[in-house]
Amino acid sequence: MMITLKEAATKILAANKILITAHVQPDGDAIGSTLALMQMLRSLGKEAEIFIDDSVRKNLHALPHFEKIRRPKAEEKFAADLMIVLDTSLDRIGVVKNLTDAPILNIDHHVTNKGGDFDLCVETEAAATCEIIFKLARELEADITPEVATCLYTGLATDTGFFQFSNTRAQTLAAAAELITLGVSPNFISEQLEKKSLAEVRGLSAALNSLKMFYDDKVAGITIDHATAKTFDSTEGFIDEIRVIETVDVAFLITEKAPKICRVSMRSKGVNVAQIADKLGGGGHVRAAGCTLKTSLDEAEKILVAAIGEAL
Ligand code: 5GP
Ligand code: MN
Repeated sequence: MMITLKEAATKILAANKILITAHVQPDGDAIGSTLALMQMLRSLGKEAEIFIDDSVRKNLHALPHFEKIRRPKAEEKFAADLMIVLDTSLDRIGVVKNLTDAPILNIDHHVTNKGGDFDLCVETEAAATCEIIFKLARELEADITPEVATCLYTGLATDTGFFQFSNTRAQTLAAAAELITLGVSPNFISEQLEKKSLAEVRGLSAALNSLKMFYDDKVAGITIDHATAKTFDSTEGFIDEIRVIETVDVAFLITEKAPKICRVSMRSKGVNVAQIADKLGGGGHVRAAGCTLKTSLDEAEKILVAAIGEAL
């Protein structure tokens, strides 16, 4: 059931022991929003714990209270009276789904989030889930400490490509400005986030070497095989290097995470890639979306190129 942010706040205030989670392959918005909400809830005297069913790329480890994020074991249980799922629909939270039978509150900004038999507060105009959590702080009358502000700013910055993408709106910048007033150091966050390992830069170089163009250069794609992919923990930003090609409308990156497990990322300047991803079992936003294809790298590329061709 769709509920407003005010109603979501009422549900949160009525709960005492709260489990917070976000999507696997967590990004700055997933980690920033969960850490910010955990701190806000603890400051209101609630018990709040974060569980995420995945490892987190290294350059997010510098966020305040990062060490409190727990990775659940397969059979683990957690007694809670509310589970809050941030920045994703429920299909991408892994085994966290089985941790508790508590009622679910889902707060998200993805247009492909179809909800289910639980409370859903989705704001597709928000640039990031952190933009929604920023507003939620007001509804909860929770303090935005400099540490909370740092987490929220990280989500705003990463989901907007540092305030460059089309999802950047006046409210995003107004929130970022207020977070800076509250103590955020933008250059500290940028310096943490731009860090890459040597293996990652070598991986980027290999990925760029794999560049292929399709459909009169309207589509650009790069791939990373498993042997290369296992040497580093993030491909963040790789796709942006080919999105910039002037003729390109759709850019894609396929990473072979494991044999027959291919992660797909898409970016577009016009075509609705959320729709393409949705058809392939994934989701996302109109201009940034993804999915997982359980095939070989070559097969994944064929399937994806065909699906993009249909959408063009
Ligand atoms: P990225 O390419 O950065 O991994 O993802 C782009 C956007 O699409 C993000 O907002 C991300 O949450 C969403 N997305 C990526 N993969 C999937 C997927 O498999 N399922 C769904 N529902 N969303 C995805
Ligand atoms: Mn997000």
